[in-house]
Amino acid sequence: MPLWQELTHIGLLKAIEKTNVAVLPTGALEAHGNHLPLGTDNILPKYLVDAINDRTSALVLPPINYGDSWIFNEFEGTITVEPSALVAFYTNVMKGVFKHSIRYLLVLNGHGGNSGHLETAAKDATNKGERIVIIVNWWRDLSESARAIVLETPEGHAAEDETSEVMHVAPYLVDMENATKARVRTKFRVVSGTYRRELIPRATFGDPTRASKEKGKLIMEQACDEIVELVNQLEKGNIPYLPSEEN
Ligand SMILES: [Zn+2]
Repeated sequence: MPLWQELTHIGLLKAIEKTNVAVLPTGALEAHGNHLPLGTDNILPKYLVDAINDRTSALVLPPINYGDSWIFNEFEGTITVEPSALVAFYTNVMKGVFKHSIRYLLVLNGHGGNSGHLETAAKDATNKGERIVIIVNWWRDLSESARAIVLETPEGHAAEDETSEVMHVAPYLVDMENATKARVRTKFRVVSGTYRRELIPRATFGDPTRASKEKGKLIMEQACDEIVELVNQLEKGNIPYLPSEEN
């Protein structure tokens, strides 16, 4: 996968002759339990694009490593970007990609708070449907069967799934001695000017104590295979649809 920022402007034109797909990793800088790094939502998508480097010729854009982390803004280390600024930024980057004959922009998104803003930007940037943005919320859209097999507890934030993934990708960044479970649920949606810390104690929602690097390995390997398959399909002009449940 050629890296957009390492090519010359002439080299970029040559690279685009071989593919009509660009990949944009997006993430966030936010608290992830007492045991995972602030950049968890950046580290995992970066690992995925690095891991499939020699398996596709799609172009990789520099990642956008800040996102909408308003919910975790009460925790130290979280840096959040206002939605209006984030949407404008995403829109500008997408339009910059679509100046070229790139037909599909695959956004490999690592953070839930970005999803709606990416959709808003994509509506504006896709030239009335002539171009297409595919948003892959990777922790939800990929590795479904691996997750079903290996996970013993529900997915969450800094939970068993995400902790296992970071244990596989960057074990030296995981502090399992400080991993504790928390799962505060409310019957109704609670919203205030600042999101309340007691609703997400220790920036955790789920049970990281059940995590293991073996579980993370299986999830990440399946995610890599699915991204490569998606890029291959897009390069052929196919948008992969799921089989209809009505038939
Ligand atoms: Zn996360």
